[in-house]
Amino acid sequence: MATPVGERRAAPARCRDAAARHAVVERAIALGVPRDYGRTRHLRLQREPVHLVPVGEDIHGRVQWLQPAAARALARMRDAAAHAGAELQLVSAFRSIDYQLGIIERKLARGQAIDAILRVSAAPGYSEHHTGRCVDFTTPGFAALEEEFERSPAFRWLRRHAAEFGFALSYPRGNAHAIAYEPWHWCWHA
Ligand SMILES: [Zn+2]
Repeated sequence: MATPVGERRAAPARCRDAAARHAVVERAIALGVPRDYGRTRHLRLQREPVHLVPVGEDIHGRVQWLQPAAARALARMRDAAAHAGAELQLVSAFRSIDYQLGIIERKLARGQAIDAILRVSAAPGYSEHHTGRCVDFTTPGFAALEEEFERSPAFRWLRRHAAEFGFALSYPRGNAHAIAYEPWHWCWHA
């Protein structure tokens, strides 16, 4: 059944304040996230944006959201890429701190070890997706969230042109955060 448009346009919930944010971080520590996670990974605790705007549907038909300036930059970049024959499809954009906790909980419930989970998923509070400035891309003919994205025309286009729109690759090979190489993850910094 199709979701009514009004419902889909409601922005995802965010933590009300710093206390709520820290409560989620503490729940993650209770699940096994090391208390010194941020310091040892050189990752900072992120804040969720006050304002979010829809940026279109992802490949699963879910409406995705970014903070307004990042959304404008993304729209310009996707237009330019399309013009050059590269299709930038969305896999994920804003994710709340609470949603990230749910990802960790689900993986633990499936029997994964916390160390293995934290190699591919940021601990709640530390994901760049919390900022509403980052996007995971895919493109037709390539599996989503797999390294093979780096062989796509879309990735080649991003390497050459993303900086013109304020976007940068956050997790190159051998990054200082001990996060697996993510050719699909781009963050707006302008
Ligand atoms: Zn990402």
